[in-house]
Amino acid sequence: MKATVTINGELYGEMDVQPEFRMGQLFQPEGRAYFCPHCGELWAYIRVESRPSVVVTIPCLAHHREFYWPGGSIWLSWEPQLMRALPIEALRYEAKRHVALFDALEKL
Ligand SMILES: [Zn+2]
Repeated sequence: MKATVTINGELYGEMDVQPEFRMGQLFQPEGRAYFCPHCGELWAYIRVESRPSVVVTIPCLAHHREFYWPGGSIWLSWEPQLMRALPIEALRYEAKRHVALFDALEKL
């Protein structure tokens, strides 16, 4: 199935997602809507065509507070299959976000 990645209103490419076999069951792919708990904005999406999305609560870039809960990051460590499918544009965004996080941490 085709999916698209949008971050802060900007398209970051398309990706192909497949059903996933977990715990003895086949799960159809679902999208992700990134919800900021501080301002309520849905600031990023991974939209899977013809499929619903689930909400993940991650602060937006403007409301980043903690290094270990990085605002503006779309990386979901508990979703390795989905993260492996990210388009290169989204991976570039994510790499830049993490470099910025480490730069900020070094200045503390
Ligand atoms: Zn926010």
